[in-house]
Amino acid sequence: MDISKLSNEEIRQLIEAKEIGLKELVDSGICPTCFDKENNHVLYGDPKDKIIYEDDLFECLLVGNPRSKGHAIVSTKKHYKDMMELEDDICEKLFVLSKKLMNTIKDVYKAESVYLCTMCDGPSNHLHIQLIPRYDFEKRGSKNFVKPRFEYVLDKEKLEELRNRMQN
Ligand SMILES: [Zn+2]
Repeated sequence: MDISKLSNEEIRQLIEAKEIGLKELVDSGICPTCFDKENNHVLYGDPKDKIIYEDDLFECLLVGNPRSKGHAIVSTKKHYKDMMELEDDICEKLFVLSKKLMNTIKDVYKAESVYLCTMCDGPSNHLHIQLIPRYDFEKRGSKNFVKPRFEYVLDKEKLEELRNRMQN
């Protein structure tokens, strides 16, 4: 279905009716993240119980379908296809911020380690770093990148602690 000529409202209705989803948006050259933000979070739901930190360049969020408790992303606000497109100074800031969030997640969730990966590979993307905690009851290694996903459950105390620490 070519949805590129439809109005935002028409697209929104199709999403709500579950007739189209992520794939159709991406195939039509529409950024799902921006569309979601500009259309009352019709795709991903209200992010206010997931946002950890935000500044001019980046936002840090807990993932809606995490692979482990505390699974978060650090995302650029601007579009970058992937990390190869990133300006050096922004890349530096992204990694310093990611490091801070890794340490924070490790402490707050009492994880044994936090893994980092990025695999942006779409036409219109917000470059994002995945931070996936590994706990002491889990084996080390790359299988942690593909642990089964589950539904995010809000833990208010932990979210508050993450937010406070990332502000300082
Ligand atoms: Zn976008």
